[in-house]
Amino acid sequence: MPRARKNPESSPPAAVEPAGGVADKQASVEGIAQDLATAIVEKRLPPGTWLREEALGRVYAVSRTKVRAALLMLSKDKLIEIIPDKGAFVSRPTVQEAREVFGVRRILEAEVVRLFVACAKPRDFQMLEQHIRVERNTLRESAATGTTVRERLLGDFHVVLAEAAGNRVLAELVRELVARSSLIAMLYHSANDPHCSSDEHAEFLRLCRRGDADAAVASMIGHLDRIEASLQLDAERGDRQLDLVKALLA
Ligand SMILES: [Zn+2]
Repeated sequence: MPRARKNPESSPPAAVEPAGGVADKQASVEGIAQDLATAIVEKRLPPGTWLREEALGRVYAVSRTKVRAALLMLSKDKLIEIIPDKGAFVSRPTVQEAREVFGVRRILEAEVVRLFVACAKPRDFQMLEQHIRVERNTLRESAATGTTVRERLLGDFHVVLAEAAGNRVLAELVRELVARSSLIAMLYHSANDPHCSSDEHAEFLRLCRRGDADAAVASMIGHLDRIEASLQLDAERGDRQLDLVKALLA
């Protein structure tokens, strides 16, 4: 289960610096995890890459214990997979898994929408409208900082919505699927397509405010369809063996 996200209203996620400057970065566990996440998002560490503890320890000049803690953090976000007795690898969701994730999201989030429309209070709408404003500001401000901030925050709209729908088990499942979707979007996105549109979130919320559950469900499913359609799921991405140290210092 991924870590609980901070509420973006009170604390937007920190901007991710380009990972070029490993040497001048303070090698805290969080810093290492952030740096590796950026390298994964920028595809310098492609899916399937073996993240050798010893090599990472050399790159960041830290103990293997710290490296392991950073890897554990990334595995909770589903960015990497830890295989017992083998090691840590950059996650590699297959095309089939990507399609399955979106298929399950359509089912679960349709139910989220119905519950939300039935129980939403004015403060829930205010919270989600505020979320959309933060999304738009973050998009404007973070154009140069890569996709991480954007992915996480936009994905979070779905998590915040699920949490407001009042079924905690459903919200947990949605949170995990949104985390997996973020990784899938990172791996399979095409160059300029938006994965999640703030305008579509706003239009969806307008339908919810009208209390039109059917239209809101259709809007959400159409939104998820478009995210899935914007991904390049026509081909499996191949494995690449690469020099880990070189990739991180590039
Ligand atoms: Zn969305």
